[in-house]
Parts: sequence; structure tokens; C-alpha cells
Amino acid sequence: MMSRRKIFVGNWKMNKTPQEAQAFCEAFAPAIGGVSNADIGLAASNLLLPSLTTRFRGIQWFAQNCHWAASGAFTGEVSTSMLKSVDVSGSLVAHSERRQMCGETNLSAGQRVAALLGAGMQAILCVGETLTERDSGRWTDVLKTQLSEAFEATGIKHWTAALGSDPERPLLTLAYEPVWAIGTGRAATSAQAQEAHAFIRGWLKENLGTEVSQRLRIQYGGSVTLQNVDELMSMPDIDGALVGGASLKAEDFAQLVTRGAKSV
Ligand code: PEP
Repeated sequence: MMSRRKIFVGNWKMNKTPQEAQAFCEAFAPAIGGVSNADIGLAASNLLLPSLTTRFRGIQWFAQNCHWAASGAFTGEVSTSMLKSVDVSGSLVAHSERRQMCGETNLSAGQRVAALLGAGMQAILCVGETLTERDSGRWTDVLKTQLSEAFEATGIKHWTAALGSDPERPLLTLAYEPVWAIGTGRAATSAQAQEAHAFIRGWLKENLGTEVSQRLRIQYGGSVTLQNVDELMSMPDIDGALVGGASLKAEDFAQLVTRGAKSV
């Protein structure tokens, strides 16, 4: 089995003023200085990104959303070139909150992924089922639809774009985030998460080939904490975490990342 470098990204959502973000990073950056075997990022509000990317270069910075058009009449959106111009590495795409509250679809998710990969930037594409979909046993169908519709919409025929040029850091990361586990304190068990990740990797293999399926990283997201990170990260198909609530305090997130990076 191919070993994949883990990737931990904190999703601050609509939290932190510039002053709070700066105070967080002044504590967080030195605390993760010793972690060399994993990628560590934060997804912050666009308002915060320009000054954070300049001041804290040891952290990978992500936007929480990014439009597919180069520029134009898209009020409230941000483009890849705007993000790139301030050294942002990439963006989350189709987080479940955007699917539920902002009309994000699999089609628009695919368009966003295509724009990011086309600009040589990272995309973290979020997928995951609701509680009703899990309880009714339809979760694999839901994941399959989310993946196939988004991938079809990217229009990217040659998946080398998703792999990028750095063998350890493919540009595309998938995040399996069961909606019922996000912000609820009820994380998926490591067995449930592993089963879903293996399903996603199987879909990648069938549709994009063995190399892409082995190299792309699949993060787990949904109530990851210091208490469950070891067990989740020890699963063979879990390659990191996307962390909401537990990424808001610098000391806690630094500990979580340090512990998660050690798990094999
Ligand atoms: C998220 O918002 O992506 C998330 C996983 O949140 P939490 O860790 O708070 O469940």
C-alpha cells in the first residue's frame, strides 16, 4: 500500500477577527514547528487571508470557497487569481454548510474544483451524507452521486491535474464529512469512517485509475477531537482531518495535529 502524507486543515468558518486570528497564529505557528511529516493548513475568511499569508508562512492557507470564473459580475465571490495573488494555497469546495445554506450543487462544486486545479491550486472537495441518508442505507449512493456529478462537471479529462507536480502533495484532496457528525460531537467511529473512505477510494480506482486512487488523500471531518484523532488517523484510508470546532483554540489544535501526525 502506498503511504500518503497526512493533511490536517482547520476550518475556522465565520470566526475570528484579524486580531484574534493573529493571536491564534502567534501561539499556533511555534507549537507546530516540530511537525514535519504532515501538511498543516487553516481555512480562514477572505478578510483575514492577505495578512496571515504574509506573516505566517509555515501554515498553508485556504479560502473556504472560490468561484470558477476569472472575474466578473459575481457579487460576494472570490477568484483563484485573487487568492493566488496573496499566496493562498487553495480552497475548500462544497462544504456541507454551503451545500445546505448557499445552494452549492455537485455541478458548481465540480466547476470550482476545475478552476482551482487549472490554476495549479489545491482543492479540498467535501462530500458526505445526511443522517437520514445514512439511516436509510443510501449513503453509498449519495457519495457516488456527489463524486460522479462533481467529477463530470470538472471536465478535466487527464487527472494528472489532480495529482499536481509534487508527488507527496496532490492538488486535489477529498474530505469525507458525514453531515450528521459535523459540529454535533458525534464523530463517525473509526470503522464507519474507514468503510466510507475505502468506498471513496474504490470509486476513484474504478473511475480514475489505480494511481490516482492510491495517491489522492482523503481527509475525515466531523467532530474530530484530541480524544478520537489517534484512532481515526490509524485507519489505512484516512489521510488527515478537516477540523471545525477543535481548530479554534491554538493550543488544542496544535496538540491535535501533533498527535494525529504521529498516528500510523
Ligand atoms: C467542519 O466544519 O468541516 C467540521 C468537521 O466541523 P466539526 O469539526 O466542528 O465537526
